Amino acid sequence: MDRREAMKLAGAMAVCAEFWPCGRKAEARGISASAFPDPPGRCYRAVAGAPIVTPLRDLYKVGPGPSSSHTIAPLRIAGNFRIWLDGQPDLVRSSAAIEAHLFGSLSATGRGHRTDRAIIAGLIGQKPETCDAALMDALGDATRVFPTTIAGRDFHIGASTIVWDKVDAGYPFADTVVMRLVDGQGRALAEREYYSTGGGFFQWKGQPRPISPEPVFRYSNMNEFKTVAAESGQSIDAIMLENEKALLGVGDAEVTAHLDLVLDTMIRGVDLGLTEEGVLPGPFEFHRKAKRIHDRALAAEGGDNFLGRLSSYALAVSEGNAAGRLAVTAPTLGSAGTLPAVAYLMQYDLKVSREAMRKGLLAAGLVGLICKTNASVAGADVGCQGEIGVASAMAAAMLAHAAGQPVEVTEIAAAMALEHHLGMSCDPVGGFVLIPCIERNAFGALKAYNAYLIASNEIASQHWEDLDRVVAAMLETGRALPQPFREMGTAGLGVSMVGC
Ligand code: SF4
Repeated sequence: MDRREAMKLAGAMAVCAEFWPCGRKAEARGISASAFPDPPGRCYRAVAGAPIVTPLRDLYKVGPGPSSSHTIAPLRIAGNFRIWLDGQPDLVRSSAAIEAHLFGSLSATGRGHRTDRAIIAGLIGQKPETCDAALMDALGDATRVFPTTIAGRDFHIGASTIVWDKVDAGYPFADTVVMRLVDGQGRALAEREYYSTGGGFFQWKGQPRPISPEPVFRYSNMNEFKTVAAESGQSIDAIMLENEKALLGVGDAEVTAHLDLVLDTMIRGVDLGLTEEGVLPGPFEFHRKAKRIHDRALAAEGGDNFLGRLSSYALAVSEGNAAGRLAVTAPTLGSAGTLPAVAYLMQYDLKVSREAMRKGLLAAGLVGLICKTNASVAGADVGCQGEIGVASAMAAAMLAHAAGQPVEVTEIAAAMALEHHLGMSCDPVGGFVLIPCIERNAFGALKAYNAYLIASNEIASQHWEDLDRVVAAMLETGRALPQPFREMGTAGLGVSMVGC
């Protein structure tokens, strides 16, 4: 039996399992405190939140690596400031320069994450989707300045634009950028306090609450989503598609075009990464290995072949991301290799149709939005469980939904993949998305496939953990992580890998 047949059979088995007599129902339920002689003193209660109105177009963003919070978001922030300045010609006329003050882990690890180049790119009018690695490389030349015109005035943007400010500055978000327009004496004429909130998202202090269009289907977590799905009789992908169209005011064709852009960028990232070798940019020698792992996997048999290939796909994209190539936030760039690895596997190894892959991507998006809304997808907030953990959960959901599994199995696959990343800290060595990030993507992909396999073969109605409870556990665990273990590069591997 080939793997595709196995996927179909697993789907059929899981559907049958729903009808098998199975004693006590355990589905999405939690265990009563009375089941324990010594309950923990606290218990989980679902909290109804506002409906999710973030479109998938904002979750899946194409942009240059290596980090969504430290590269894409700063690029978007600088672009936003530029657009705002364009509407302030009088202020701009009396100004002398623009400054970008970086705080928190943007200051601590921004050099490794190309934050300075991203700010320069945004200020000179670059867009994330088209800002490629070659341009980002050029922007790192500290001896050069880059001319640009804003509101009719010429500026020279360069290394002096960037101010590496305090790491601990007491702003409400760890990753803060204060964009400032200054006069000839360095006095601020205008400024905006921006927060990079993870996954390439940003907001600014005093930002008016955007008026979001109403989604067709209202849900704030997975349990509410399942109720909506049951009442409407709609599939995950149909619900996500209708909401995306309503939230963006677009039609089927636009949503399909975006999903295809995401899939194509992912597939290209694997293809490219499997051809490249050599040393990645950074202060220490870090050798690419995706091609070697892939070549060796092709020569191997059985499990080694499968595990090696899937790992190499994730390594390929993650290495490209570390080199500043275009990648997709899924949910972040640090975790940009996990979902593409599974997508590549589906397209070329499992021969899944493009239509089924789009549906899988919509289901993965559901999981990403639920995690982002009810916890976080930022390593600076909740550690790596929010990046690789969520990426793995999204990939497991993509596999399950594309294979035709019911919503319960898709949920269990996602919950299981996330659950087994709980507690994972974010401790990038030197602040570079190299160690442990690149290999971690491979493990995220492997766990996703394993979660999908277990979820689609166990009896769904006997499974205790549901996605909402695991997301709640991720949030609590993330809050308990000491700050140095949240993307500061000053703890864990970030210290133990550095010799004196
Ligand atoms: S350790 Fe994880 S969360 Fe931290 S930068 Fe790397 S991939 Fe992102």
